[in-house]
Amino acid sequence: MDKIRIENLEVFGNHGVFEEETKLGQKFIISCSLYLDTRKAGQKDDLNASVHYGMVAHLIKKEMEENTFALIEAVAERLAECVLLYDEKIREVEIEVKKPWAPIGLSLEYVSVSIRRKWHEAYVALGSNIGDKEAYILQAIEKLKNRKDCRVKKVSSLIETEPYGVVDQDKFLNGALLVETLLPPQEFLDVLHEIESEANRERTRHWGPRTLDLDIIFYDDEIIQEENLCVPHADMHNRLFVLEPLKEIAPYKRHPVYGKTIAEMVVDLKK
Ligand code: ATP
Ligand code: CA
Ligand code: CA
Repeated sequence: MDKIRIENLEVFGNHGVFEEETKLGQKFIISCSLYLDTRKAGQKDDLNASVHYGMVAHLIKKEMEENTFALIEAVAERLAECVLLYDEKIREVEIEVKKPWAPIGLSLEYVSVSIRRKWHEAYVALGSNIGDKEAYILQAIEKLKNRKDCRVKKVSSLIETEPYGVVDQDKFLNGALLVETLLPPQEFLDVLHEIESEANRERTRHWGPRTLDLDIIFYDDEIIQEENLCVPHADMHNRLFVLEPLKEIAPYKRHPVYGKTIAEMVVDLKK
């Protein structure tokens, strides 16, 4: 990706742990790298195809002046989010917050925090087999769409499927979606759980009936093996009700461990 860099922007802000800092304020120096594709802007010599760095610099100044944070970690986090939300063309951002007058009673050039944040791509499997299944699924999609840290990019059609594992229950409605998110995997899982609970999801029986089930199938090409989160989803390759809707929106997406595309996994499973 190409990079637009704002280096050492001087701004004033009232951030700090001490009362004097929040009262009197002090100087902060911000550097910011925007990662995006500037090819079209470069070819056409057209600002509309790029991101206006002046606007971004003013946005940073405004955020620095209008908020008060105790930590420069929090300052950096806020700035990264604002910049990533500012323009869809910005895929990734690096923010450095320097504090040259950090009150530690020693002479130093500055202390700083640097963070890198980006839009991630997550594929989510959707399922429901109680009540108005379609409504539960559509509400879940709406809830994701309404979050500023999520952008739903593709939604498959919904298909009716036979129950899997525990077969003495109603048929399922299944689908899949692609969402871009600023949330790291565990926070994204929390959001999915929250949406499930708002749909009155009860966890009674494993693989049992549910109003709404939202599983993370892929998160970028990350391989996650944590106690409460396994990505890619551990059993996706054995489930046509996951693979078929996924194939509709991402036939060539490749499984980062098995190395097969979704379309290939469908063929394998049907053999
Ligand atoms: P399965 O995961 O086999 O489809 P399930 O969806 O019925 O089963 P749940 O009761 O919905 O299982 O979830 C049990 C736990 O699985 C969740 O609380 C969550 O912490 C964990 N989990 C692990 N990996 C994932 C994942 N990729 N997506 C969602 N939940 C996951
Ligand atoms: Ca599931
Ligand atoms: Ca689940």
